[in-house]
Amino acid sequence: MNEHKTKSLVIVGGGSAGWMTAAYLNRLFNREQKNFDITVIESPDIGIIGVGEATVHSVRFFFAAMGLDEEELLRETNGTLKTGILFRNWMKPRGGKMHEYFHPFEQQKLGRGIDISSAWMVAGRDATERYDEGVSLSAALISKGHGPKGPNSPAYQGVVPYGYHIDATLLARFLRRKAVEAGVTHVEATITDAEVEDENIKAVMAGDRRFEGDVFIDCTGFRGLLIDKLKAGNWNSFTDALPCNKAVAIQRELMEGEAPKPYTTATALTNGWAWQIDLTNRQGTGYVYDGNRLSNDEAEAELRAFLGPQSNVLKCTHLNMKVGCREEFWIGNCIATGLAGGFIEPLESTGLHLINLAAGLMGTHLLADTPSQASRDSFNRLMRGFYQDLKQFIVLHYCLTDRDDSDFWRAAPATVRETPWLEAQLDVWRHKICEFHDLAGSFSTTFSDENYRYILYGMQHYPKLQFGLADAAEAGLFGAIKNMGEQALAATMPHDAYLKRLKN
Ligand SMILES: Cc1cc2nc3c(=O)[nH]c(=O)nc-3n(C[C@H](O)[C@H](O)[C@H](O)COP(=O)(O)OP(=O)(O)OC[C@H]3O[C@@H](n4cnc5c(N)ncnc54)[C@H](O)[C@@H]3O)c2cc1C
Repeated sequence: MNEHKTKSLVIVGGGSAGWMTAAYLNRLFNREQKNFDITVIESPDIGIIGVGEATVHSVRFFFAAMGLDEEELLRETNGTLKTGILFRNWMKPRGGKMHEYFHPFEQQKLGRGIDISSAWMVAGRDATERYDEGVSLSAALISKGHGPKGPNSPAYQGVVPYGYHIDATLLARFLRRKAVEAGVTHVEATITDAEVEDENIKAVMAGDRRFEGDVFIDCTGFRGLLIDKLKAGNWNSFTDALPCNKAVAIQRELMEGEAPKPYTTATALTNGWAWQIDLTNRQGTGYVYDGNRLSNDEAEAELRAFLGPQSNVLKCTHLNMKVGCREEFWIGNCIATGLAGGFIEPLESTGLHLINLAAGLMGTHLLADTPSQASRDSFNRLMRGFYQDLKQFIVLHYCLTDRDDSDFWRAAPATVRETPWLEAQLDVWRHKICEFHDLAGSFSTTFSDENYRYILYGMQHYPKLQFGLADAAEAGLFGAIKNMGEQALAATMPHDAYLKRLKN
């Protein structure tokens, strides 16, 4: 039997990436016996980015795996529940109304001979209803202001899948407290240099303080302080496909009587789109835009006008965004994650999700006594795959637009040329339904055929299908969905009531 040796794992950076990774790995590696001494070094002078407040649904299982109490997590972060994203204004108005569609997390698998998506299409239901309203329960829930949970829903479970809206600063603080209570060491210091030997980091320095480690995790945000020390030019830019490279974020008070919504809203503006994320005490908003077409001042003015003059603004921040990812996330003994590893614009709220994916892979790849180059190659291939898949999924949201009211929107359809697989597939999806097999071999299991369909059909990219559907079959399927929607409404609470109950 090998002699047990505790290794040291040094995480530099105390934003969401640093503390999510620390809390998860500490629980995974040190619960039964101590395998890693984990230290998080966080600069007292450099703040965290302070955005990143909406999540996808699978982050629930990551928080559960950290051993966190869900209600405590929600209370401590002013959190609310999220059943999906309402997209507004991504196409020209329809019938005098703003174009809207909802992308829920939920995926109904009804239908034997014919699946529900094909049935919806061949029954011609697109003439009278939105796709998400026809095939999901979440659309029925949000139309009545309901969240995904009932009064007795167990932790991390709902009638439909859900993610969170959480205050990013409070999340980092909460995770720090939990991680430190569980044995992670917290050091306040600003790292000024790193000692590198044979493509490995031996130590990081803060003035005359020196911190050695077996493994280093770079969570220093867009700076990528450690990973950049190991290899220059280690960056794959996505700006040709995803031109939005700036954001202006505004936090505003919720207005009198305004209940937090159980979904994120993403409204297309002139040169990008605005997010609205409701917490229990305020709304986080922001405009993600193409900085080559709009100045900071113009973007801020457009966002303020969109929010309305009565908005009580608490804080306004301008941010530059580096869109793309590392060619190699793991070099020698250093792994970059969070913004240091890469960033895709937040249209589908995937920043924390990518941290979750990377931490999960660290859990499996760092278990070996001495991780080999094969381990590093595997980690890098998977992480690159996640980012590439996601890039393509985000391009899908833009390239189907018919908006022609600005140069930004007129250029949007051409972005699909930067994602050749998607370009070819869009043609295929003109003639048949988008199905699971089309995405087989992809890296991301988060956004699969169902998610693609919500965007494709939300953006009116329908296949031309020919054959008919017997009336009885149609009535059976859509009758079943309607009944399920009514049952879901009966089993869940108004979102606002759920949040009030949580406070008491
Ligand atoms: C506009 C925008 C909107 C976003 N929206 C979402 C969203 O809705 N959902 C989502 O999931 N994600 C979103 N993201 C992504 C999300 O914000 C990040 O993935 C997440 O916050 C992780 O950030 P981080 O920890 O990598 O970096 P940061 O929060 O920047 O943290 C960096 C840390 O490194 C430390 N540090 C830096 N330099 C040093 C040094 N020299 N020495 C010591 N410490 C140092 C800092 O003190 C800080 O603690 C968004 C990002 C942007 C830009």
